Amino acid sequence: MDIRIVPLPAEKKKPRFTDESKLAFGRLFTDRMLLVEWKAGQGWVDARIEPYAPFVLDPACLVFHYAQEIFEGLKAYKWADGTVALFRPEMNARRFNRSADRLCMPEVPEELFLKGIEALVKLESDWIPTSPGTSLYIRPTMIAVEPVLGVKPSDHYYFFVIMSPVGAYYASGFKPVKIMVEDEYVRAVPGGTGDAKTGGNYASSLKAGLEAKKKGFDQVLWLDGVHKRYIEEVGAMNMLFAYENRVVTAPLTGSILNGVTRDSVLKLAGTLGFTVEERQIDVNELVADIRTGKVTEAFGSGTAAVITPVGHLSYKDEMYQVGDGGVGPLTQKLYDTLTGIQYGHIADTFGWMRKLV
Ligand SMILES: *Cc1c(COP(=O)(O)O)cnc(C)c1O
Repeated sequence: MDIRIVPLPAEKKKPRFTDESKLAFGRLFTDRMLLVEWKAGQGWVDARIEPYAPFVLDPACLVFHYAQEIFEGLKAYKWADGTVALFRPEMNARRFNRSADRLCMPEVPEELFLKGIEALVKLESDWIPTSPGTSLYIRPTMIAVEPVLGVKPSDHYYFFVIMSPVGAYYASGFKPVKIMVEDEYVRAVPGGTGDAKTGGNYASSLKAGLEAKKKGFDQVLWLDGVHKRYIEEVGAMNMLFAYENRVVTAPLTGSILNGVTRDSVLKLAGTLGFTVEERQIDVNELVADIRTGKVTEAFGSGTAAVITPVGHLSYKDEMYQVGDGGVGPLTQKLYDTLTGIQYGHIADTFGWMRKLV
């Protein structure tokens, strides 16, 4: 499918950021966006890259009432030699379509997803910041825009991509977080939408996050929704633990989001001499193993922060310190290697980087 490029009038060009150290996460957006529509009986039509602008939508649109929405998150990097590269974007394309299937939305052809993002990034490449740790965050999204209050899959969708230059997550160095095992609210249940990247999962997680913040924690550690016993995810990241020479994380059994960073970390850990175990982790065993020092490191993984070290974990009002509460050697090594590949400093032996030509 051809992508039409709508001219960007000079007056629609936004002022550029001047200080990359002041870039926040997802507040500033580039000049253009990609928009493609899907209509029943026609399929995907009218792909265009147009000036970034608000949508005018009927208040009855299905997305506003029944949350038929999915999204993705990935990043573009600008290397020292000027190369622009995306990190494993085909993984996001496939996951987007798995989410689409779960929410009864049309699949976006992988080629349209990838070519659309590449064309947009290329046009906007002077928006990619270059200081260490910065990148261009890319947010593909699909929403149901049929204006009707009956509960059903929409007959009209917008697939759009917006982009935001983002600052370094760890501008002043790695900072281990304090997390709280959530034993009241749950994020996902078997058969639910936990393995789809859909806004509703986030809306329903806000209350637990807010209550944890009030108690002084950075994130919640989610337990499985049936037994409230097995570790699932941390906030909106996957959760991993190091036991000496093993890396352990929950298996993808339907209630856990299949993170691209999780997959990359597991592959990297394998090459660093660690055995990878995807298995159920009983929270009672976990805290016992943290207490006796068997668990040496704990960290979250996700696109935004890449790796988030966990220094302390609280369960039923008891606080447990992981290792010495600082950043362990594996956590540091994984972060350095993964970001090294993303920024073109380390050889990409996995073939993860997709360079724009
Ligand atoms: C997006 C997301 C992740 C992380 O996935 P990445 O592909 O590594 O960014 C983990 N958990 C949830 C709930 C998510 O939405």
